[in-house]
Amino acid sequence: MRREYDVLVIGAGPAGSIAARTAAQAGMSTLLIEKRQEIGSPVRCAEAVGRETVETFIPLNPKWIAAEIDMFSVSNPQGDCVVLPPIEKTLVLERKIFDRELAHSAADAGAEVVVKARAAGLCREPNGLVNVKLVVQGEPREVWARVVIGADGTESQSTRWAGLKPIPQMKNYYVAAQYLMTNVDVDPRICQYHVGWSLAPGGYGWVFPKGDRQANVGLVIWADPGATKTALQYLDDFIAPRFPNSSILAQVVGGIPVTNVLPQMVADGYMAVGDAAHQSDPLTAGGITNGMQGGTFAAQVAVDAIRHGDTSASYLRKYEHMWDAAFGRSYRRLFRIRQAVIKVPEEKISQMIGQAARLDTRKMSLKDILAIVVRVQPQLLLEIAPYFVGQ
Ligand SMILES: Cc1cc2nc3c(=O)[nH]c(=O)nc-3n(C[C@H](O)[C@H](O)[C@H](O)COP(=O)(O)OP(=O)(O)OC[C@H]3O[C@@H](n4cnc5c(N)ncnc54)[C@H](O)[C@@H]3O)c2cc1C
Repeated sequence: MRREYDVLVIGAGPAGSIAARTAAQAGMSTLLIEKRQEIGSPVRCAEAVGRETVETFIPLNPKWIAAEIDMFSVSNPQGDCVVLPPIEKTLVLERKIFDRELAHSAADAGAEVVVKARAAGLCREPNGLVNVKLVVQGEPREVWARVVIGADGTESQSTRWAGLKPIPQMKNYYVAAQYLMTNVDVDPRICQYHVGWSLAPGGYGWVFPKGDRQANVGLVIWADPGATKTALQYLDDFIAPRFPNSSILAQVVGGIPVTNVLPQMVADGYMAVGDAAHQSDPLTAGGITNGMQGGTFAAQVAVDAIRHGDTSASYLRKYEHMWDAAFGRSYRRLFRIRQAVIKVPEEKISQMIGQAARLDTRKMSLKDILAIVVRVQPQLLLEIAPYFVGQ
């Protein structure tokens, strides 16, 4: 490991690896550090991504594709089920391999990748370099970088060291619980969503097939300090009647921010990307490709800033503008839609799904869906309509 780098990236998840690859491809000396001893493990993800979107970052490779999905289903607790084609063809990944492949592509582009290397603090010095304290293989180390990209996930500390992270509001988090299950009898080409507050208050459940009769079975609930049951207890109730003969191969529990992105994603010599910057989708909480896009934008601006010799926050703010131009409007909408949807009573949501299930989904249009909303819960339409008009 050298003493000084142009770009240091903290965290080798999808956002960090793409940021490191982008910086290295532009000729920057780049260090990518990962605190775990193995990139990609343990997996804390249901692993679904849009096929075309992911392909814009890395050529598709069967070794990290667990399943190809043609349809989505949305069910209510009564068992009514609407089956629809996805907006974009979907893949269920093998993230253990996918994340490693992304880090490999960063290394191929010239980045130095170091595992068991934890960032333990950072501060910008008067000469403009950022000093980063590391613990590498248990030993303290120090390096300096012109720009640090914090890609250290939902529990990011680098954002706090840079002075960015506001105190998190519980109501803006999902709590997730998921099992990787085997001997699961589901259609291998359908991703299932399950909606109903008794099942997952404020959130939803999913069954994402991974081939070979395996599936990620999980749910997110709204983080509520007064909740009487944990996400894992809701998950156990969810699987008991549905998969009585299945076994659990792995378990994950985690938090996912579902706000809009951090109000500030940059500081002098520092940029936050991916979950560290709250870039996951405010409605579904999906964050793999969004984080990869954030990582790409951030690294592009970091490269420009280094070439211009100005790594101040005011220069790096170009990254926030790029993000806002690409995602700002849709994120604001999705955030508002989620806020409106969680106020709808469970029986109304069930009615809407029940009515949609009776339609011929091959011919179903947006007009049909709106007609159902108007019939069952007109207030919902009134609340979300302003976010689709003139914004
Ligand atoms: C249960 C669950 C299901 C999900 N399902 C989906 C889904 O189906 N589709 C989807 O798109 N998204 C999903 N998500 C969200 C998705 O997993 C994240 O949005 C995505 O992983 C974010 O990528 P990232 O690179 O920002 O962070 P991460 O993937 O979390 O990577 C951060 C990395 O930083 C490392 N790190 C942390 N601190 C340090 C430090 N101090 N020094 C060095 N390294 C550090 C971590 O070890 C980790 O490897 C899900 C999340 C959960 C919890």
